[in-house]
Amino acid sequence: MQELKNLMRKLGIVGAGGAGFPSYAKLAEGADLLLINGAECEPLLATDYILLRDELDLVLQGVLEVINKTSIKKAYIAVKAHNAERLGWEDGEKLADGVFARALPDVYPLGDEISLIYEATGRLIKPGKLPITEGVIVYNVETMYNLGRGIRYNEPVTKKWLTIGGEVKNPVVIKVPLGAKIADIFEKLNVEVKEGYTVIDGGPSMGKVINPRTYAVNKTTKGILILPDNSQAILSKKTNEVLATKRAETACCQCTRCTDMCPRHLLGYPLEPHKMVRTAMGVVEAMPDMVISATLCCGCGVCESLACNQGISPKAVIDNYKKLLSKNRLRFDKNGEYSVKEEREYRMLPYKKWMSALGVSVFDRDTDFYGEINDFERVEMTLSRHIGIPSIPAIKDGDIVEKGDLIANAGDGLSLPQHASISGRATLGNDKIIIDKVR
Ligand code: SF4
Ligand code: SF4
Repeated sequence: MQELKNLMRKLGIVGAGGAGFPSYAKLAEGADLLLINGAECEPLLATDYILLRDELDLVLQGVLEVINKTSIKKAYIAVKAHNAERLGWEDGEKLADGVFARALPDVYPLGDEISLIYEATGRLIKPGKLPITEGVIVYNVETMYNLGRGIRYNEPVTKKWLTIGGEVKNPVVIKVPLGAKIADIFEKLNVEVKEGYTVIDGGPSMGKVINPRTYAVNKTTKGILILPDNSQAILSKKTNEVLATKRAETACCQCTRCTDMCPRHLLGYPLEPHKMVRTAMGVVEAMPDMVISATLCCGCGVCESLACNQGISPKAVIDNYKKLLSKNRLRFDKNGEYSVKEEREYRMLPYKKWMSALGVSVFDRDTDFYGEINDFERVEMTLSRHIGIPSIPAIKDGDIVEKGDLIANAGDGLSLPQHASISGRATLGNDKIIIDKVR
């Protein structure tokens, strides 16, 4: 296993869709099941679907490498039922030795690791614990593609697949060098951001608002969407957590709908957003331990964008509590017996209903692969986009680098190296390396 860990680290592979956790660090003894997350739960994103459709061979090469180099003997590639149908996969179909298709219901949220593992395997991860405690390792589709590609072509990660969608003529999936500016991509695709629209990195549920003029593609960028400012998807991202907390203290009628619909609560987790909004911030500041279960929230936004009729955002309140808990280095670590609620089965949220709640159904259109775009004059590689210690520049200011060259070493501890995504002259900036093409 150590050999595989070293390889994943050398290739610079991070979880391609999540928070940027270095993938090598997820490999651990005791796993018997590998689960590939192709749920692509966020509306309007099609990156994983296109990778599975067009690059399955490389994805499977990565999956088989993990199976062959660890104690894991079985892998599932999990996709939503509508994508399984488009891929021509039956639930349980063998895709390679030890690798099987898993068709998930078309509900939100299943990209969340805890919900995904339960739905695909029936194993329930106890609150506050990691998937490895139940013998599961979860990787994203593109993570396996990057491993397969790294092995076949001996190349580190220098490119990213991502969806460009929302208010565009034709939504597409593209492949671009890491560090490409979003404004440059828009220019090459003739995409214009109109007045009254906002650009986000990620899906409409959990993506983050970005400035396309300054923001560059990084290893976790799954999609860039342009959405109307008046859609619930964008309004929810502009919620002020402090004001939301004050509003919740006065306007909540304690109907409990937010708790009844909370996916983590339905899995039996001791998370009750209606109680969170009732707890006064002043009291929480004095006794942060009171809201420790806030750390069990996956941030799906169901309580905010669908459940509450009073315009309250339990999620924003909980985000506020999470910051306080993180400052105090507190996280949920209580042992106990937990079981999935019976009502979960009929309270799961249909995917289309969720799109409608976010106000983005109109942008749900067929998305195809546009191709690879390579002709960028400049890229900006951030040194701290993965979780852990930032990479350390391995070149000097002004050096000429070739595509694929090592430009930053992994720092001590949890960290990753970085490689040039285009050839050119490097400039060392604050927390980034800029590469300009030389004419
Ligand atoms: S965002 Fe709301 S609904 Fe989603 S897990 Fe957190 S508390 Fe539950
Ligand atoms: S759904 Fe809204 S009003 Fe009802 S308990 Fe939750 S926050 Fe309060």
